Amino acid sequence: MMRRAMMDAEVGDDVYGEDPTVNRLQERAAEIFEKEAAIFVPTGSMGNQIAVKLHTRPGTEVVIEERGHIYNYEMAAMASTSGTLARPVHSRDGTGILNWDEIESAIHTGGAYYVPPTSLVTLENSHNFAGGRVYTSARTREIAERAHALSLPVHLDGARIFNASAALNESVADLARPVDSVMFCLSKALGAPVGSMLLGSRAFIDEARIWRKRLGGGMRQAGVLAAAGLIALEESPKLLHEDHANARRLAEGLAEIDGIRIDPEGVVTNIVIFDIVDTGMTSPEICARLKESNILSSAFGPEIRMVTHYDVSSADIEVVLREMKKIVSSEQ
Ligand SMILES: *Cc1c(COP(=O)(O)O)cnc(C)c1O
Repeated sequence: MMRRAMMDAEVGDDVYGEDPTVNRLQERAAEIFEKEAAIFVPTGSMGNQIAVKLHTRPGTEVVIEERGHIYNYEMAAMASTSGTLARPVHSRDGTGILNWDEIESAIHTGGAYYVPPTSLVTLENSHNFAGGRVYTSARTREIAERAHALSLPVHLDGARIFNASAALNESVADLARPVDSVMFCLSKALGAPVGSMLLGSRAFIDEARIWRKRLGGGMRQAGVLAAAGLIALEESPKLLHEDHANARRLAEGLAEIDGIRIDPEGVVTNIVIFDIVDTGMTSPEICARLKESNILSSAFGPEIRMVTHYDVSSADIEVVLREMKKIVSSEQ
């Protein structure tokens, strides 16, 4: 369906704002998120970094949870593009989901002139490297209200916000309402081949268009991509609960395997991260063995990360569990 829509897409030059399909995607996204405006960007990283650039000035700090994507996986763009420093925050309960007290303790405002001031608070929902855990709209609202009281804007890295929405049964509009800007990916869980959206006030998005061009992200007949994005946006969110059920089943099965540690209760979206130290194998060894059976996963130190998506069925989950048992028990 996406390929067909891409082939049939009506296009124009989006640098001049003349691509009708891109314009339709931007309007639809703004409508769904109940924000004033939206802009199509090639990647989530570009969307996040444009937001960091617009909300901050050089020599200031950006507060972020220590495993956050904007800090760890965007090539230090907050330093190279925006001249800002990350102020990573540890979540004391280990979930990776911050509360206001934790954020507040990392904020510098109105203090000594020799301490770099905070210019932005960022949140990630769902939080990728915190095992896909989620911020409720109530938690987001509390953080944003307190930040705003200190005149600090809040940017939401909502690469996977539709997963959070499905898990919480709260609309993406509600989850993003308290924040000043939000980025979400049409790729990832929604299944489009390319593209992300950045949303905020109209003035903010007008500025974002300038920075998108400056960073080399002004695309011409991008309607072929936006056509797939529109289908991702309209059709995919309602399917995400299946990915979540599969992820939970995977986590429950993994928890029963000797040497693997994971709390299935913590798996609320489509990301499953588990500890393999007690298997006596390393994570790259296990991932390599899984790959021999066409099962893809990533190794992160003592942990392995798996993600469920549109192309993974519940039957596939049982195959993964069977292979995993085989691999781990061959070692013991
Ligand atoms: C994937 C992702 C991004 C953006 O990634 P791109 O590959 O640049 O599109 C940003 N934040 C999070 C949490 C992500 O998972």
